[in-house]
Amino acid sequence: MAALTPMMQQYLSIKEEAKDAFLFFRLGDFYELFFDDAVLAAKELEITLTGRAGGGEDRIPMCGVPYHSAEGYIARLIEKGYKVAICEQVEDPSVAKGVVRREIVRVVTPGTVMESKSLSDKANNYIVSVAAEAGQLALAACDLSTGELYATSFDEASELLQDEINVYGPAEIVGDASVLERLRAQPPAAGRPALYTERLPMDEDKLRQLLPDGALDGLPPARLRAVSLLAGYLAETQKRSLGHLRRVQGYEPSQYLILDPFTRRNLELTETVQGRSRKGSLLWLLDRTKTSMGGRLLRRWIDKPLLSAAAVEERLDAVAALHADLIQREDIRAELDGIYDLERLVGRVAYGTAGGRDLAALKASLERVPSLLALLAGSGSETLRRLADGVDDCGDLREMIDTVLVDEPPVSTREGGLIRAGYDDYLDQLREASSGGKRWLADLERREREATGIRSLKIGYNKVFGYYLEVSKANLGSLPEGRYERKQTLANAERFVTPELKEKERLILEAEEKMTDLEYSLFLQLRDHIADQLHRLQRLADVIARADVLQSLAAVSAERRYVRPQMGEEYDLSIEGGRHPVVEAVLDGAPFMANGAELSEDGARVLLITGPNMAGKSTYMRQTALICIMAQIGCFVPARSARLPLVDRIFTRIGAADDLAGGQSTFMVEMRDIQQMTDKATRRSLVIIDELGRGTSTAEGMSIAQAVIEFLHDRTGCKALVSTHFHELSHLEQSLRCLRNASMAVKESGGDVTFLRRLVPGAASTSYGIYCARLAGLPESIIGRAYELLAGHEAPAAASARAGEHGRGEGLAAREAAAAYEEAIEPQARPDERPTGAAEPIASDRPAAP
Ligand code: ADP
Repeated sequence: MAALTPMMQQYLSIKEEAKDAFLFFRLGDFYELFFDDAVLAAKELEITLTGRAGGGEDRIPMCGVPYHSAEGYIARLIEKGYKVAICEQVEDPSVAKGVVRREIVRVVTPGTVMESKSLSDKANNYIVSVAAEAGQLALAACDLSTGELYATSFDEASELLQDEINVYGPAEIVGDASVLERLRAQPPAAGRPALYTERLPMDEDKLRQLLPDGALDGLPPARLRAVSLLAGYLAETQKRSLGHLRRVQGYEPSQYLILDPFTRRNLELTETVQGRSRKGSLLWLLDRTKTSMGGRLLRRWIDKPLLSAAAVEERLDAVAALHADLIQREDIRAELDGIYDLERLVGRVAYGTAGGRDLAALKASLERVPSLLALLAGSGSETLRRLADGVDDCGDLREMIDTVLVDEPPVSTREGGLIRAGYDDYLDQLREASSGGKRWLADLERREREATGIRSLKIGYNKVFGYYLEVSKANLGSLPEGRYERKQTLANAERFVTPELKEKERLILEAEEKMTDLEYSLFLQLRDHIADQLHRLQRLADVIARADVLQSLAAVSAERRYVRPQMGEEYDLSIEGGRHPVVEAVLDGAPFMANGAELSEDGARVLLITGPNMAGKSTYMRQTALICIMAQIGCFVPARSARLPLVDRIFTRIGAADDLAGGQSTFMVEMRDIQQMTDKATRRSLVIIDELGRGTSTAEGMSIAQAVIEFLHDRTGCKALVSTHFHELSHLEQSLRCLRNASMAVKESGGDVTFLRRLVPGAASTSYGIYCARLAGLPESIIGRAYELLAGHEAPAAASARAGEHGRGEGLAAREAAAAYEEAIEPQARPDERPTGAAEPIASDRPAAP
């Protein structure tokens, strides 16, 4: 190291502080990277790798980016999951003795980006910390751009940590090494991979100084530890005030409907399974929010449906009022439309990165607030009235911005033009002096033209020579000798100055410099004043976000003819004419066939659904789950009417193709899901299993399916919708008191099958597999041969169905029947051989009982 130049020595010692980050080392107008950083960054950013002599024998690998375009490069590295430490010159190079002093001013990490290039408007960007303390696991989550801070904890054995982390989908996780170890061993199946950093908690006194007063009040030890781990990391990477962080919002996981990562994915709550796009998800359907804050809050509501009837009713009350009144809803939407992202504006104010345009956006937003609050108060909804009641509309801040700032401030805060005339006397004087000076210059030009008779004589300005008089070569002859002092010679003109001009120039430039300095400091005063009031603005932002989500739910509910669900604490679920909200929305004109559901404690609570592929089984099962979730979010539901219980968990086991996660076989994944389900489902849960028992031999699959169904029926007592292609399982209706067969009706004529998409009681007796094969365009020769083979298998099929009829307890008979299937392919009947589906519709589509 001794051989290196002093600057490279400085570089290496600073690099010690940021070993796990790219060090962006400021050198004049560039950020330079050296050594391994340079090699890797050149590759990742596709920029040229050069070298630099640094005192040692070899040239040091180097690459760099101009500081004014650094944001884009940093964003790309962050996107790729790296950290970037930004090292600035912290003293003026012109006064520095020796090497300019440099310091890391901030470490940008995937979980702590504040730059809008790296953030999506309608999604939060969370960083999560995990901690273990006293038999508890805790988690804290923070969105630095909005200041939100949440904390929760669980029993060490509860296995809820993964689920909870998945809700936040963090870009980065920090925390206790032991917990990170566990997470690494069991990475979440869904969600983006996060960057892990081990941390130690920070000193509690320091922590208290860092966060706003009272932010930690009442936090139990494990959560405190998680917050401490997180805050320590934020303080270390951000190196600035975290004043905009909010009070920690603690919650119990049991306050919300629990959805495991697979279920969230399967039900396509916030993104689709295929392509992971937002379009086609429930979020996409329900999002009519007007503000980014509302958009993010809606997502949080969908991520965390409620479990309290009172809280659900409160939301439904507001949705009902806005649902009923289109004009009122449109008025509210119009006001919301003019409101910018207050949460992130506030974040930028706290960070000292907000410019004039940000404050103008803040003012424009605040201008909408009084009428918005009035509309909420007069909406006829108790919930909205209470929401608006006593809210501080921050009118003083709006007035203040209006007084200080011009209407359309420039992008830069350093070049003047920000502050309104009449706000500051001295600034007005300077402006007067500057414009007076410019008037004087114009005068001078006129006077000199007259005096010399040179009409093209003009006054100009450049940075090197300041103001000058310019005379073209052709006119030089007309210029009296000694009138001006020669300053610069150009190809076809000469430039001159006079002592008088120099004197005025000094005054003008001085005034201009003072002006921009003064404007900047007045702007900072304004911004600091707002920074002291952040928490008022944050509370207001909360109200606006809630109002926005409620109007969004109401707007969708009204447009799509959803109805208010009746929520109860009882067990029973009754949906009349239910629809799948997203399938219905994308059907594009084709009618969606509504289907009901009746699940009750003593009647049917397990529905075993058979029917051909493509008949609509999984659509039906998902719609039932989605209706429950929508209701618990506080939204109306796609049905003719619905009476719903509050479900504590929803499990789904759906589909096959998409879950080869982690290299496990489909079957293994399915079994693991089923294990979770049998372990955690309660009486109040809703379980959905699509095509149970695939992926192993028919006999085994069917046996497992039956055993699982029996377990859910006898032990768990939950509501369950199970679809299966083993129509032989329909015998279970005889042995399981609360199980009913149902099927999706189809109409056959000739060799054709029409899907009626109607759920009817009774089992289908065939899966129509060969028919589907024909639809898929398999050669007729294969289809013909398949029917032929099928006929040969009909006998064992019939035998097994009879064996099954002995029901439960006849374990031996069932096993024998299963054995008969071991080598048999799935039994089928010709579609044109028999009618399917009883004509009578299933319970809920009958007229309601008096
Ligand atoms: P299965 O699970 O029985 O194979 P799906 O539920 O996947 O069938 O349904 C297949 C397709 O049929 C869906 O993609 C949808 O477009 C359409 N569909 C399903 N249910 C309905 C319905 N009730 N009304 C209209 N179309 C439906």
